[in-house]
Parts: sequence; C-alpha cells; structure tokens
Amino acid sequence: MNLPRNAYFKGQFVPYEQAKVGVLTHAFNYGTAVFGGVRGYWNPEEEQLFVFRPVDHYQRFLNSTKIMAMELGQTPENLARLTIELLRLDNYHQDVYIRPLAYKSDEIIGVKLHDLKDELSIVAIPFERYVSNDTNAHVTFSSWRRVDDNAIPARGKISGAYANSAFIKTDAIRAGFDEALVLTQEGHVSEGSAMNIFMLRNGKAITPPVTENILEGITRRTAMQLLQEELGVPVIERPIDRTEIYLCDEFFMTGTAAQVTAVTKVDHRPIGSGNMGPITTELRKIFDDAIRGRLPKYRHWNMPVYQHITLESPSTKLSQKVPHS
Ligand code: PMP
Repeated sequence: MNLPRNAYFKGQFVPYEQAKVGVLTHAFNYGTAVFGGVRGYWNPEEEQLFVFRPVDHYQRFLNSTKIMAMELGQTPENLARLTIELLRLDNYHQDVYIRPLAYKSDEIIGVKLHDLKDELSIVAIPFERYVSNDTNAHVTFSSWRRVDDNAIPARGKISGAYANSAFIKTDAIRAGFDEALVLTQEGHVSEGSAMNIFMLRNGKAITPPVTENILEGITRRTAMQLLQEELGVPVIERPIDRTEIYLCDEFFMTGTAAQVTAVTKVDHRPIGSGNMGPITTELRKIFDDAIRGRLPKYRHWNMPVYQHITLESPSTKLSQKVPHS
C-alpha cells in the first residue's frame, strides 16, 4: 500500500514522514482514539476530485469524539475544509481514502479518558476496491459477538473496538470466506466487520436499526435514500434473525470502503438465485453515479477539491484548476 504524501498533524500540514508519535502515546496503548473513513472519487469528465458527504462523515466523527470525552474545538465544516486543503496539497487525481483520527496523545501510564490531551490527524492515500469479490461475495456468521453499546459503543468509531472487527475479519478470511456477519449478544444480525447490511425480501429492503450495535453508516444512509427515492423500494429498520438471511432474495453490504458489495452466498447457501440480484445491480449503478457527482439531485453530497474556472478568449477555451483556500 502507498503511504500518504502529507499529513495534517498537530495543527499543521507536514510531509507524512514527520507525522510520528511515541510508543507510549495513550491511544496506541489503550485504543483511546476515534477515526473516520471518507472517500474522494475522481470524475474524469470534469477532471475533478469529489469528496463524498464529508460534513456528514465529520459530524459522526465529532459524535465519536464526544463519546470518548474529547475536545477538538472543531466543526464538521472546518474539518471538511482541512481535508480539501490536504487533498489539494497531495494533488491526487484518482480515487482516494481519507483517514481522520482523533487520539489521546499524552505519553503516560494510566487508563482513563479525562485530563488527557486530544490531537487530530488527517491523511489520504490512493484507494480502489476493498472487497475483491464485490459482485459475488461469500460470507459466514462469525463465532465472535458484536461489542455491546454498554461495553464499547459501536456507534462511536472507537479504535479499540476494532479489535472486535479484526477478530471477525481474520477468522472469516482464514476459513475461506470474503467477509463475516456478526451477531449481537441477543443473537440478531448486527453488521459485517466494517460494513452495514441489507437484505431484500418480497420487494422490501430490511436493515438492522441503530440500536443493534451497528456503526451508523453514511453509506447505509445513502443506500436507504437511493433505494426509496430512486428505486421505489421501501426500507424497513428492524432486528434480523440469522436464518432470515439464508432465505432472503438479495443481500448486500454497504460501507465507505466496501461501497455496495453484493453477497451471493452465506454459509455455502446461495442467496436467491446465487447471482447478484436486480435491485443490488441497480443500486450499485446509481450509487456509482452519485459518488462521482453524476446525479444533479445529489450533487450536494459531492464536495469538489479543485476549483475550475473557464478562461474564454476569441480563439481558445482554457480550463484551469485554480488553488483556492
Ligand atoms: N460498520 C462498521 C463497523 C464500519 O467500520 C463501517 C465503516 N466505516 C461501516 C459499518 C460503514 O460505515 P460508512 O458507510 O459510514 O463507511
């Protein structure tokens, strides 16, 4: 994997090599950090990089910091602006993944959240697909259970909680699956290791509610809106039993990294016909147009990185990218 070119670190932009922390850093020892995952999508027709729903991502990021008793003194809009500045500095002309991180930065011994300094970093790297079989993934049910809201809240994107996701993912991959679904302590289907889930049954989309120890995904919210408004598919939020998934017509997972990943087999049982279904196929198409700024109705989701101006002259038409702060 490529390393980032630059980093926003300790209040300024520096080359990535200078964005270093000591081994005693609180967050590194105790998992006391929260993070985000945002994507930027290159649109070749417009020669533009669009960051997808950055203000929504940063609102959730700040919610996570609140759960962890952090004070960054930032607004979602300001974090989006910092991200745009970083991407201009990086000068990427391709799809990217943006990783903001807020962390307890003191280099001390002692497990707690209070009276510690909070720092912010943001980096971006070129990024393509996350799930390689995104049109025909085979998933299993993990033997691990999802962390509970009263243990480590999944609603906050808390670094320490991702040890739970790592157990889920690695066991699934080592057993030959692409991904795993994880159950809550009560035995309902919660989500994947880093993605939300939807099943389609009898023309309706069903997804677990936010009280099922899921991360409140931005892609989940996007898929819910596109399903209802563009495909006319009603969306219901309710708890889901494991065997409902064996019997559903279509099944897909959503996430910033996973985008809309079609699942065609669960525990060696085909979902529906065993091929990607029509609603998932349509949704993937609309989603791809939405994230690249090709749908005027959803253009407010796409924050452009580069400012374009058109310089008209009698014989030539020059399109230039002008840095803008
Ligand atoms: N659940 C978990 C546990 C995740 O880590 C992610 C990825 N951020 C998601 C769901 C999907 O959320 P989003 O669509 O906001 O990326």
